[in-house]
Amino acid sequence: MSERANVIEVSGLTKVYQTAMGRPPLRAVDGVDFAVRQGEFFGFLGPNGAGKTTTIRMLTDLTRPTSGNARVLGFDLAREVTRIKQKMVRERNSMPHLLIIGGSDAGISAALRAREVNPAYDVIVVVADRYPNYSICGLPFWLGGEVADWRALAHRKAGEIEAQGIHLLLEHTAQAIDPAVKMVTIVDEVGRSRRIPYDSLVIGTGAVPARPPIKGLEQPGVFFLRTMADGFALHDYLAAQSPASAVVVGGGYIGLEMAEALSRREMQVTLVEYLPSVLTTLDPPLGTLVGEELNRHGVTVATGVAVEAINQQGQHLIVAGSGGFRAEADLVLVATGVRTDARLALTAGVETGRWGAIRVNQAMETNVPHVYAAGDCAETYHRLLERHVYLPLGSMAHKQGRVAGENAGGGQAAFHGTLGTQVVKVFDLVAARTGLRDAEAREAGFDPLTMQIETWDHKVYYPGAHKLYLRVTGDRRTGQLLGAQIVGHRAAEVSKRVDVFATALFNRMTVGELGDIDLSYTPPLSTPWDAVQVAAQAWVERQENLEVK
Ligand SMILES: Cc1cc2nc3c(=O)[nH]c(=O)nc-3n(C[C@H](O)[C@H](O)[C@H](O)COP(=O)(O)OP(=O)(O)OC[C@H]3O[C@@H](n4cnc5c(N)ncnc54)[C@H](O)[C@@H]3O)c2cc1C
Repeated sequence: MSERANVIEVSGLTKVYQTAMGRPPLRAVDGVDFAVRQGEFFGFLGPNGAGKTTTIRMLTDLTRPTSGNARVLGFDLAREVTRIKQKMVRERNSMPHLLIIGGSDAGISAALRAREVNPAYDVIVVVADRYPNYSICGLPFWLGGEVADWRALAHRKAGEIEAQGIHLLLEHTAQAIDPAVKMVTIVDEVGRSRRIPYDSLVIGTGAVPARPPIKGLEQPGVFFLRTMADGFALHDYLAAQSPASAVVVGGGYIGLEMAEALSRREMQVTLVEYLPSVLTTLDPPLGTLVGEELNRHGVTVATGVAVEAINQQGQHLIVAGSGGFRAEADLVLVATGVRTDARLALTAGVETGRWGAIRVNQAMETNVPHVYAAGDCAETYHRLLERHVYLPLGSMAHKQGRVAGENAGGGQAAFHGTLGTQVVKVFDLVAARTGLRDAEAREAGFDPLTMQIETWDHKVYYPGAHKLYLRVTGDRRTGQLLGAQIVGHRAAEVSKRVDVFATALFNRMTVGELGDIDLSYTPPLSTPWDAVQVAAQAWVERQENLEVK
């Protein structure tokens, strides 16, 4: 069979369907996909009828391009398309509707899980932008040039999502929810408004960058980084202006990743942090190691500085802060955290909590019946604290979204809670934490004891051994493990070591029990007592000494 393309123009339909002979169906914009094989025409029911294929035997040879009214030898293609579409609409109308607002980590996880547990559901995801399921966590690596193509940041392509029977409404913004009639008002990219019904609704509207009280944030050359659009804006500026210097405001994980990214572009970078050390999610002795790593790679670090104003002066921006701080730069990136985006939820009367984030239970249900929420717009149940906190992380957005999707699809799942486990790579160093730090544990009513040790990631006789710095926090009275922090070389398996602590925390183990776990050993990778166990043993020894005294 030849591989010639067929073009079928159908009067009454605006689309031109083009396919190669014998190839799988091509996606058609108005919801019906087509494939043409010699003598046959396939109407492919998608997206919600994905997998169902209607075959219409045609009395013609479509190896020749066919145009005009496709009454090809008595077969009315236009009517057949209408029939298929009407069938799809009838099928969809008879299905329960799951509507999801937000197409990032939480929203897409919810959609995929709902279709898995209940394929009978009609799942629609409304996404404000054109980038569903992109890993915004990867933006610093694209901006720094380590990832060559932004398209590679897609967890999944739109077509792959739709192939799961999920209908994506891109560039549509949900504006209001009316829970009394279970309708959501959405507006498309040209401002047309319509209402969509739901049986279950998942809100996954995420977060927006915090805007600190700094004068001059609106100026050209000042950037925030949250969405793909933010990433493109910054990328375009870097390409067009070739800035030589940058000030990064905020020493959290995004600020640190961006300080590295901009340095990789050979820019002179100054990182400004309000608190006394960078990465304040770690205790200062470990945060200081991260600051030193930045210095080693040419980044100037200014701590204890509150940035107050950004002013244009000639071609440059002048960043001014407390204590007489002044830095000149061609670009300023503000990375001072995020705040929940619960605006849509508020239109439905959904309750929010202390941080303005949506209140949910462990089933990810809000106070409004049939309305669920997940990800950065919602509160997170903390497994150790046994209460909800606001801890916006992609790792949790995926898990919460899955639970919300399962329950919205008629299942019965529970979110088992966060431990605040997180990790960041800064040049050659990796810093990670899980659980509670000393002060946090004390505030939560524990009697914490914290021990810091230095040890090796693997046997020192094997080349390439690196120092690891570990801090372990446990409850002095009960011995319960409460948290751990680790800093070490990027080759020292820091993240997986912190994950060992996280697993122990999840299972409410004592620090002493960590020593009993059968962890792997080979000289190039670890020691017979792994660094995790060396730290745990040091903690137990200290606890015992304190008891003796
Ligand atoms: C630079 C960067 C690096 C990061 N690195 C990490 C990391 O290493 N590890 C980690 O765990 N986390 C990381 N995060 C955080 C992580 O990306 C977020 O926690 C995660 O994206 C949250 O997912 P979400 O689906 O809740 O919300 P978001 O990703 O904020 O997505 C919200 C979605 O809702 C849509 N939306 C909002 N309002 C509407 C509306 N009214 N109508 C329709 N659609 C709407 C948006 O278009 C978007 O699709 C990083 C974040 C950034 C910015």
